[in-house]
Amino acid sequence: MSLDFRLLEEKWQKRWSDSNVFEANPDPSKPKYYVTVAYPYPNAPQHIGHARTYTLADVHARYMRMKGFNTLLPMAFHYTGTPILAMSKRIASGDTELLHIFKDLYGVPEDAIKTFNVPVNIARYFHREIKGGMQEMGYSIDWRREFTTIDPSYSKFIEWQFHTLSSKNLITKGAHPIGWCPSDKNPVGQHDTQGDFEPEVGEFTAIKFDLDGTSLPTATLRPETIFGVTNIWINPEAVYVEVDMKGERIVVSKQASGKLCEQMTCIAVIRELKGSDLAGRYATNPINGSKVPILPAEFVDPDNATGVVMSVPAHAPYDLLALRDIKAKPDILSKYGIDRGIIAKIEPIPVVQLSGFSPIPAQDVINSMKVKDQLDPRAEAATKELYQKEFHTAHMLPETGKYAGLAVSKAKEMVKKDLISANKAFPFYEILNGPIYCRCGAKVTVNLLSDQWFINYGDEGWKEIVRRHLGQMSILPEDLRQEFINVVEWLREKACARRSGLGTPLPWDRDWIIESLSDSTIYMAYYTIARVLREAKIDPSVLSDSVFDYVFLGRGDPSKLGIDRSTAEAMRREFTYFYPLDSRHSGRDLVPNHLTFFIFNHVAIFPEEYWPRQIAVNGSVLMDGKKMSKSFGNIIPLRKAIKIYGADTLRVSILSASELMQDVDFSDALAKSTKTRLQEFYSFAIQYADADPIDVLSMDALDHWLASRVQKAILQTTAAMDCLRAREAIQTALFALPQDIMWYFRRRHNCCNDPKARGIVKYALEKAVRMMSPFAPHLCEEIWEQFGNTGFASVAEWPQVDASFINEVAEISEELLKDVVEDTAEIVKVTGIVPSKICYYCAPEWKWDIYLKLLALLEGGADPKALIREAMKDPDIRARGGDAAKFITTISPCVVSMPKEQRRRLVSSIKIEEEAFLKVNSDFLSSYFRCPVEVYPSDSPAYDPKKKAGIAVPLRPAIYVEGSACSE
Ligand SMILES: [Zn+2]
Repeated sequence: MSLDFRLLEEKWQKRWSDSNVFEANPDPSKPKYYVTVAYPYPNAPQHIGHARTYTLADVHARYMRMKGFNTLLPMAFHYTGTPILAMSKRIASGDTELLHIFKDLYGVPEDAIKTFNVPVNIARYFHREIKGGMQEMGYSIDWRREFTTIDPSYSKFIEWQFHTLSSKNLITKGAHPIGWCPSDKNPVGQHDTQGDFEPEVGEFTAIKFDLDGTSLPTATLRPETIFGVTNIWINPEAVYVEVDMKGERIVVSKQASGKLCEQMTCIAVIRELKGSDLAGRYATNPINGSKVPILPAEFVDPDNATGVVMSVPAHAPYDLLALRDIKAKPDILSKYGIDRGIIAKIEPIPVVQLSGFSPIPAQDVINSMKVKDQLDPRAEAATKELYQKEFHTAHMLPETGKYAGLAVSKAKEMVKKDLISANKAFPFYEILNGPIYCRCGAKVTVNLLSDQWFINYGDEGWKEIVRRHLGQMSILPEDLRQEFINVVEWLREKACARRSGLGTPLPWDRDWIIESLSDSTIYMAYYTIARVLREAKIDPSVLSDSVFDYVFLGRGDPSKLGIDRSTAEAMRREFTYFYPLDSRHSGRDLVPNHLTFFIFNHVAIFPEEYWPRQIAVNGSVLMDGKKMSKSFGNIIPLRKAIKIYGADTLRVSILSASELMQDVDFSDALAKSTKTRLQEFYSFAIQYADADPIDVLSMDALDHWLASRVQKAILQTTAAMDCLRAREAIQTALFALPQDIMWYFRRRHNCCNDPKARGIVKYALEKAVRMMSPFAPHLCEEIWEQFGNTGFASVAEWPQVDASFINEVAEISEELLKDVVEDTAEIVKVTGIVPSKICYYCAPEWKWDIYLKLLALLEGGADPKALIREAMKDPDIRARGGDAAKFITTISPCVVSMPKEQRRRLVSSIKIEEEAFLKVNSDFLSSYFRCPVEVYPSDSPAYDPKKKAGIAVPLRPAIYVEGSACSE
């Protein structure tokens, strides 16, 4: 009978909702756990990729709930920003591409699309869609706390946040370089770009080399190497322009002149010229007056910075390679009419001293990394490596005058400052991780707008507090910690307001709207009070800063806030109970912005006891091995996928396919096989619904083995859940433990009708159901109910290890039997013999003694290389003479390579009575291989025609299979 997953899911979702099981209120008698996940931006339906992050957060919340924590998982919707506005405009103008996406890909009904000319209607529509999907997925959300970021009360909260930041001097106004859309004339953050890339702005120093009265600004990230310039590179095929920059003539690439217009006022183009017109001429280095030739090089990108590059071959691998290439093929010079002699005299000029390297470190890295030429991808890696090394450890050479002896990191800043103040250079900003495109299609540039509002994430004092707190936070997975540290280092002023978009106006300058990455940093605190605000029907206009000061900071007198005192106190109780946030979940793309801003704002605004404790980050979902994208047409909206596969199947598929940071490759085949597995699990489990409770007194060795395996599964699953290793948890609870149950079946005849066996199987299944409940909650509720439990599996206690059931001897013995079966089957297969009799020869006492002695020596920390010598110190072993030495030599590789845990188990358990154990189970072996089975001690076997007994070692009996060769 096939199970209707959807019907079952609806049934349990209704029951959960009717009994308010996931609503959490402050309860001082219970420990709390507070989980949030980045709220969705409702301008499209969610797809399977989104479901990964939300499902993981839900699984985490469900696990903590079962562990006895009063767990809160809330949800809200992020309306803030310009993308919805832009979409609305495109719909209003009849944009056929977007209409096609809405209608055909997302399945939005015609009459809904008709209302989309009003931007907020788009948000409301997808808000309902996304919420519906979350409910259908069975997320354990407390919906009483739902809000949107354009709710008037939320705006009051954001105003308070900005007043608070401002009072701490963390908001600045001025000109800072920011990612910019030249078409929308608006700052651009991650949410505004195609593919969701956060634009990283880098500052180059454009150093002006004199060129017969005009100047040629070479853009560099390493201004301190100006002393080592041997020549200048330009792209001979690119278009350059001579422009007037504040009364001064400069020559840059055509693309650079466009960028300069946005970075400073007063640029006028005077004339165009080709790169080849510059090649062969000489320019003067402003730092020392030396004349250097301008040479053609194809690696110069006219769309990167000024399109003019200074060549420092001693320290820049690219420059050295380009010089080598041009010397090897001087034809390029002739092509542009340049005398070949120009390059003959060029030799690298060292600028810094790097210990452990020759005076030309660029040559050293090129050699050691075997970089072939300037087109070799390793050139990039070589550049990065050398730059890092020199930046952190090198010092300026005596030839650099006043900078001599300075660390590179210091000299770099000084040289830059000196050149700029002497008007020999100017800053030039560029998108470092470009090209990045705005959602409107325009390429993102850097703008240096004045009168912008910024949150000053560059504030050193603030960074220091963030670094300290980050060091104490749990980051899952831990490998991502360094990425966070790096972001904290490079973060600078962040434009926090726009001229348009949905959201909260900046309270002191209402022409500006606070943008989406700035109004979403501390809203986890707002969830704690959202329910009280709604239930007490608080008029947003009374929500003054003093109300929030009281609720979140404990300041002021609750009877003098202009709202009902009991309401104010109720909000404070909610906040102080649920805060700090225990776990924040998000996809990896939010590390360089949202997740880091979240830490910054928390430490700036709240008292230290309310700072967040953990961040959990997961990787993305691929569809049939490909990135999901609108252009591939391979996006399956989540609600459609739920209809096809069911929620539990999706939940388990998405989380079982890989661990946290790896990409999940979703496919129809994956979902189908998961569904089959869940179906089998269910069908199997309910056969045991009416089994009796486990009867401890009548348990035999095999029962003890299964009971012990259950405890190990609990241990392993719990450890995995504690670090959100969902895949491992599912593998253990849904696959490994049921496999043990299947082995139990093979071993126990007629198990289905044996009340004692049914009891122990139900015991194991009951634990598996609890452990699977966070992943497949609907299915597990159904089994749970059929098992005769009252109450929900969702809030049942997470299984605890019963130490009295851990039985290492039973486990080791059973593994011995499994190995024997496997080895025997292998022999039968390889030899092709149809067995008529099988003999097993068990290792004698003395081998066991030596075996355990070796294990104990290793456990005691003995050097594996000296193992044989150590063992031979034992007089009993020495007394055995050559036999002992031979045996030790045979066995020691296997002993040394044994996993530590297994070794410990063997040393700490009592010795396995191998022969007795196999004799007891010879009936099983005999029926398994359908022939008589005999078990002998290997030192005195009654029957051993092929002299096999001697090779027996502990836990690996010698095997002799007698019979006739198979005729096939
Ligand atoms: Zn744009």
